[in-house]
Amino acid sequence: MVALTNQDGGILRKETFATIVSSCKETFDLCCGCLMQFLHEMQAGVEDLLGVGINVPGMYDSENEILIKAPFASWEKIGVKQYFQKKLQYENIFVENDVKNCALGEKYFGHGSKYKSYVWITVSTGIGGAIVQNGQIIHGSHNLAGEIGHIKVEYANPRKCSCGEYGCLEAYASGTAITRAVRHRTRQSPAFRRAFEEWGLSADAEGCADLAKRGIRDARSIYEQMGDYLARGIAAVINLLNPQVVILGGGVAKSMDLVLPIVSGRIGDYVVEGLAGTPIIPTALGYEAALLGTTALVLDKCKGV
Ligand SMILES: [Zn+2]
Repeated sequence: MVALTNQDGGILRKETFATIVSSCKETFDLCCGCLMQFLHEMQAGVEDLLGVGINVPGMYDSENEILIKAPFASWEKIGVKQYFQKKLQYENIFVENDVKNCALGEKYFGHGSKYKSYVWITVSTGIGGAIVQNGQIIHGSHNLAGEIGHIKVEYANPRKCSCGEYGCLEAYASGTAITRAVRHRTRQSPAFRRAFEEWGLSADAEGCADLAKRGIRDARSIYEQMGDYLARGIAAVINLLNPQVVILGGGVAKSMDLVLPIVSGRIGDYVVEGLAGTPIIPTALGYEAALLGTTALVLDKCKGV
């Protein structure tokens, strides 16, 4: 997704296209072409921008400006900033992990006006997190703080996670994990498989959420299990950090009315007594969280406000 925004988070131009997973350079070139087109339409040039903010998925080493690894695409050791600087002939390029940017976007344009200490969790294809303490993102010693998706939530016969470890939250509560659970259960239950067909839904996490809301028992139980694991992961974070609030975003935002009551109902089983009332709320930015996060990143770096 490429957009031109103003400094209040207003979107002036926006374009969405599929990532070319096989080639990060082709994807980057598409982004650059799109940005140049927007500027052309606005009769402006890169020199008129305050900066260009970029989201990268996966582990980003902000000290050395290297994308260490984006597991979904097998992109490794890429100098994202340098590439865009050269391609756009422009200096003010800022790059950060997408979930850290979501948390930053929230600070500038969402719930951040109300809360100074929060944990931002994205539940999407994978699960990621970012920690904000007193209005500042916690980076950790290698910019890897907040890997909530790899908190262990199961030790008995744990499932393998995409990171190579076992029992991680991501292996139980991500969109990918739900889709896997759906496929497994439709193989065992012809009635469950037929329910997807009857309602014209695809047998994945989103279709399953739809069926759960319609009261289909198998779908409901998949989400109850997912919500229980999510509560275990969130509880670990609440016990450790005592945030004012936990903010959820990502693809799960579409099914928040289903997931939130389940998680809120279970959280008390896993946190220490005094923290059971920690609110868990949806992002104020919906699908634009990461996008507005890049605007926030530019503001943060250029203005330091
Ligand atoms: Zn993992």
